[in-house]
Amino acid sequence: MSRREKRTTRRRVLQGLAAASLFGWKAGDAARRPARALSARTAGVDVAIIGAGVFGAWTAWHLARKGLSVVLVDAHGPANARASSGGENRVLRVAYGTARHYARWALESLRPWRELSERQSAPLFFPTGVLWLARERDAYIDDSLKTLAELGVRHEILDPSQLAQRWPQISLDGVGIGFLEHDGGGILARRAVQAVVREAQAAGASLRIAAARAPEPQAAGVRVPLGDDGEIIAERVVYACGPWLPKLFPGLIGNRILPTRQEVYFFGAAAGDRRFLPRQLPVWADFNEGDIFYGLPDLEGRGFKVAHHAFGEPIDPETADRRISPAGVREVRAFLRRRFPALAEAPLIGARVCQYSVRMNEDFLIDRHPHDPRVWLVGGGSGHGFKHGPALGSYLARLVAGEEKSPIPGRFRLSNG
Ligand SMILES: Cc1cc2nc3c(=O)[nH]c(=O)nc-3n(C[C@H](O)[C@H](O)[C@H](O)COP(=O)(O)OP(=O)(O)OC[C@H]3O[C@@H](n4cnc5c(N)ncnc54)[C@H](O)[C@@H]3O)c2cc1C
Repeated sequence: MSRREKRTTRRRVLQGLAAASLFGWKAGDAARRPARALSARTAGVDVAIIGAGVFGAWTAWHLARKGLSVVLVDAHGPANARASSGGENRVLRVAYGTARHYARWALESLRPWRELSERQSAPLFFPTGVLWLARERDAYIDDSLKTLAELGVRHEILDPSQLAQRWPQISLDGVGIGFLEHDGGGILARRAVQAVVREAQAAGASLRIAAARAPEPQAAGVRVPLGDDGEIIAERVVYACGPWLPKLFPGLIGNRILPTRQEVYFFGAAAGDRRFLPRQLPVWADFNEGDIFYGLPDLEGRGFKVAHHAFGEPIDPETADRRISPAGVREVRAFLRRRFPALAEAPLIGARVCQYSVRMNEDFLIDRHPHDPRVWLVGGGSGHGFKHGPALGSYLARLVAGEEKSPIPGRFRLSNG
């Protein structure tokens, strides 16, 4: 975008912000005051985003490209080791059972992820395809296949003999059907989020490393106190703090979002064994008779990833010790013995303890603070949020800029679970 186009877009968006405030918003004292565009009198910004995980980063990226002044604040830095987005890699798939809205968002997000990857000197997205394995064609698979067909997502259904021929490194014990999404794959999560933040900065956003506290509404903007004794005054504030949201808003969010402890493991194939590299093996998810395991081929020599998709114990994202458990390693090795026998005794070359931010209904949280509509609460990734970063960020940026006219769907609302 040229400088001039940026200026014009910014003016339009600011007019939009003012119009939305004047005509649309009712709740809370702050909202009753006429909104104003950012003025020279306020040493502030249009939008402060607290949390530079995948949700906050893409929201900053979209808002900065609309020409708004944006400050992105993170206590430990973008995609840090405690953040849910700080992992090595994540799965990008479109199949979602009956949840068509997530299938659509995943599909919408694929292109921006691919394009982001293409703009870097080394790839961030690996289009390996995503292979699903199951005992039988159940309702979830039927619904997924129907949605893939409706959305025009390239895929193929495979029987056990086809699966065995294509991927002899997979043992098909208990597998009666598979399907392959051609366009999905794996993304290098931490590096991708850091790239999004760099691009947001290049578009004008600034990054500040500081711990933010809960918002303090005031006449001119929202005050965000910072742990380093600083403060930010912003027209709008987005709290995209993932698993930290319940700590920042205990009364409001409390146990509506539960951070759960999740272990992931990386195993090393023998030197010269190419069967677990991205050209030979897609990203995969195994329904395993209701006890789901999933994983990625060895991207960039970091190891073959495998994880158990079952909600773990509650965890404090700030203070948790992140050593993995011997029981977790035993469990995952038992799975490997059954499904990837060549790796059953492979060395564990990496492991991480991360956390999901689980909402009861596993839907994301995207809503206004009930006492101040200038404050937005975003999170509840529920173990499947990463892939949606670009689409969620685009949607949230439209909401925050007052461009989105349709009401927020009930599933995202604070009141929904
Ligand atoms: C093991 C594991 C595997 C997963 N696999 C997949 C997958 O394959 N595909 C998929 O789509 N999703 C997956 N997910 C889910 C996905 O990673 C998350 O939904 C997503 O990363 C959530 O991002 P977020 O921005 O909401 O939170 P986070 O990434 O946690 O970011 C929140 C940020 O807020 C900052 N912060 C918190 N409090 C403050 C404060 N007071 N002041 C300033 N900064 C603050 C933190 O430092 C942090 O950087 C997985 C998650 C885990 C744990």
